[in-house]
Amino acid sequence: MNIQFADRIKNAPRSFTRKILDLTKNSSVISFAGGLPDVSLFPHVMITEEMQNILKNTSRSIYQYSPASGVEELREEIAKNYKNTTADEILLTNGSQQGLDLICKAFINEGDTIVVESPSYLAALNLFALYNPKILEVSLSATGVDTEELEEIFKSQKPKFFYMIPTFQNPTGWSWDIKTRQKVADLAKKYEIILIQDSPYDALRYDGTPCIGFDELLPEQTINLGTFSKTLVPDFRIGWIKAKTEFITVFRSLKESTDLQSSKFVQYVVANILKGDKLTSHVDNITKVYKNKRDAMAKALQENFGDTLEFEIPKGGMFFWVKFKDDIDTMKLFDFAIKEDVAYVPGTVFFKDHRISSQARLNFTNATVEEIQKGIKNLYVAYKKYLQS
Ligand code: PMP
Repeated sequence: MNIQFADRIKNAPRSFTRKILDLTKNSSVISFAGGLPDVSLFPHVMITEEMQNILKNTSRSIYQYSPASGVEELREEIAKNYKNTTADEILLTNGSQQGLDLICKAFINEGDTIVVESPSYLAALNLFALYNPKILEVSLSATGVDTEELEEIFKSQKPKFFYMIPTFQNPTGWSWDIKTRQKVADLAKKYEIILIQDSPYDALRYDGTPCIGFDELLPEQTINLGTFSKTLVPDFRIGWIKAKTEFITVFRSLKESTDLQSSKFVQYVVANILKGDKLTSHVDNITKVYKNKRDAMAKALQENFGDTLEFEIPKGGMFFWVKFKDDIDTMKLFDFAIKEDVAYVPGTVFFKDHRISSQARLNFTNATVEEIQKGIKNLYVAYKKYLQS
């Protein structure tokens, strides 16, 4: 039978990350590829206790259908983390990925223009492609996006929105400075462009102090995405959208059409964790461990590669973005790396046009310090072999 999938399936990019996850599953490969937290840090005891409390203290009604917005107690707790925000301005979603999907559904007509950082988050690029927009990229450096390029795009193309990860970005780990943030907010206001601020990593800070976000710089035009995937556990699939109620009403009705509602049980678990102020000390704990791993990776990279590799030490988040000085193709290097039992994500996949890239993303949160030391050593061996090939 000739299966007639929808046109959007032709646009569905093949998932390189899935290929890597398959390659690294159940094998001796040390993986710096996935954006995975450290399983040993998941607060299993705390979660079990909260689950038992809920099972003991709630009635059958917890299992009933309920409004798509999600559990009010949790929305109230989340709202406290933003200035002048109420629970009505929060919609709970199935991970922030669903939040982004609802935003696409609400805004993108086929052929509409949207703007992303270059490079940008792979799962967002893959999602956007399904809605068939014209995707424009704006160059990103360690201090933020190029605001002249952005102004030109805003002025001439009137994009539907600008999707941005201003703090500890995926894949680069970079954060925009205050000047860039202020300028982008001014431009968005002037040209009336909606900003999508994706903030999964903000709480994973190892150095320095937080910089003002777009939720404060331009609250009326910013749609914020948040998640508990990095601070608690990804499997609960609890994310949220914070925006003006005008937006939330639309997103809520789109969520109803998508999945009616998310499961309330884990939402109550997280609400209780927040009410008992147990998340702050957990995050303090994990940031200590991640900082140590980050330092181990920085040291291993410096010791093995010397000045053949350029990178910034990320002040937070989960990734190093490295650039090999010889103009090598990190997609080709990947095959050599796998033979040396180490994996990473080649830079090319984070660019819309999949250009050849001498850059790569290395995750430092999932591996142990010993694995980091060994994996980077192996990567250097792979790199030498690649140069000789
Ligand atoms: N946005 C970005 C930029 C991410 O890197 C991630 C995690 N990979 C997410 C969002 C989190 O998605 P979710 O809340 O759906 O787990």
